[in-house]
Amino acid sequence: MADIKTVGIIGAGQMGGGIAHVCALGGYDVLLNDVDREKIDASLALIGRNMARQVSRGIVDQADMTAALARIKPAASLKAIGGADLAIEAATEDEEVKKQIFAALRPHLSPDTLLASNTSSISITRLASSTDRPERFIGLHFMNPVPLMNLVEIIRGIATDAATYERAVSFARSLGKTTANAEDFPAFIVNRVLVPMINEAIYTLYEGVGTVEAIDTAMKLGANHPMGPLELGDFIGLDTVLSIMNVLHDGLADSKYRPCPLLVKYVEAGWLGRKAGRGFYDYRGEHPVPTR
Ligand code: NAD
Repeated sequence: MADIKTVGIIGAGQMGGGIAHVCALGGYDVLLNDVDREKIDASLALIGRNMARQVSRGIVDQADMTAALARIKPAASLKAIGGADLAIEAATEDEEVKKQIFAALRPHLSPDTLLASNTSSISITRLASSTDRPERFIGLHFMNPVPLMNLVEIIRGIATDAATYERAVSFARSLGKTTANAEDFPAFIVNRVLVPMINEAIYTLYEGVGTVEAIDTAMKLGANHPMGPLELGDFIGLDTVLSIMNVLHDGLADSKYRPCPLLVKYVEAGWLGRKAGRGFYDYRGEHPVPTR
């Protein structure tokens, strides 16, 4: 089996960009794709700025940054991704979008390409079964922001073979990450615990138990969390938070996972958090200002 040399990444949003960043610094050639060409360009610019910050802090050498940036190439179509040794899907958290990507990728895929999804919650077994290679499909769940967060959750679908699992674990470790295995149940480990907490924080806001500021201050100082839950929801993206709650609610059929109506309203308004400039905080000025 060939070593992984080239990594194709589909989706150049917050996560795809972060994964490209760590793969390039890890010595892999990277192909970065998105349906929206502007997203690829914005992502490449952001990766450059983030690496420059790492250089200024002495975390990365200037020469390593120059070499890493040269390893990342934009891929305007999925055709180029098909030749990669590993293709990581990091597009919008929507099962249909992801399945369409795997279907579109299929005619271009080399027989040996490993497929992975960075999904936060969707069944790896279901995504794998929509491809021609469920045995070579795996969940590689990176955390946000990828360059700073040390964990990669590894999720095997029912058909994932042992060789794919071993390769995925050594790939994640080669990026300096620690892995944790999670079984293929809705939202795996991290988001099964974290996202209902964020949803509950939104309920406490919705029911008037506290203001945005009070809730975040209470959880930062009272539970020693580095970020308040509403700030964290904005950071993840409220569309992603809502999708994960829907996956938990549908997949586990338990009313304790019902998404808060206020979360639904924010998503309907397009107030998706940091990436949209507005969520539970307004980020368009110099300092974030609570929107409620
Ligand atoms: P995002 O909204 O920042 O980026 C998603 C990108 O996917 C966008 O640039 C969009 O244009 C692109 N896209 C949509 N349809 C596409 C298609 N058909 N082909 C190619 N690109 C397409 O979202 P994100 O936060 O980067 O999340 C991406 C994935 O990573 C999701 O599955 C999410 O659940 C997962 N994830 C997110 C976080 C987080 O904290 N945000 C953490 C871990 C995992």
